[in-house]
Amino acid sequence: MQDCLFCKIAAQKIPAKIVYQDEQILAFHDINPAAPVHVLVILKRHVADLTELSSGDESLVGHIMLKLPLIAEQLGIAQDGFRVVINTKDNGGQTVHHLHYHILGGRFMQWPPG
Ligand code: 5GP
Repeated sequence: MQDCLFCKIAAQKIPAKIVYQDEQILAFHDINPAAPVHVLVILKRHVADLTELSSGDESLVGHIMLKLPLIAEQLGIAQDGFRVVINTKDNGGQTVHHLHYHILGGRFMQWPPG
């Protein structure tokens, strides 16, 4: 999508501190970290949010799920633990409407979130 910020990051038209990428996904540091380690994992393809995934995306979603702990390991936060968050639409606190997984770590995470 032309006006989508994360599509521009995926296309590397906007710079980001990339920590991992393959054909389907890209992981990069959040510009405004909410924890000592805060990385976003996006699909390279534009999908606005969780509700736009379909049954054809099963293997893609499985791929991301398996990559999340490996990226956390690479970031050095897997052993102590980390949190994965997917904010969805307005009540979920989503501000960038391109599906992304937050990986947060490096400190104890409170529950419930605000
Ligand atoms: P959301 O609120 O949609 O779940 O998360 C969007 C995240 O994207 C926020 O944590 C925000 O700090 C991050 N973000 C917004 N703009 C940029 C940007 O231009 N570059 C990077 N690396 N992160 C961004």
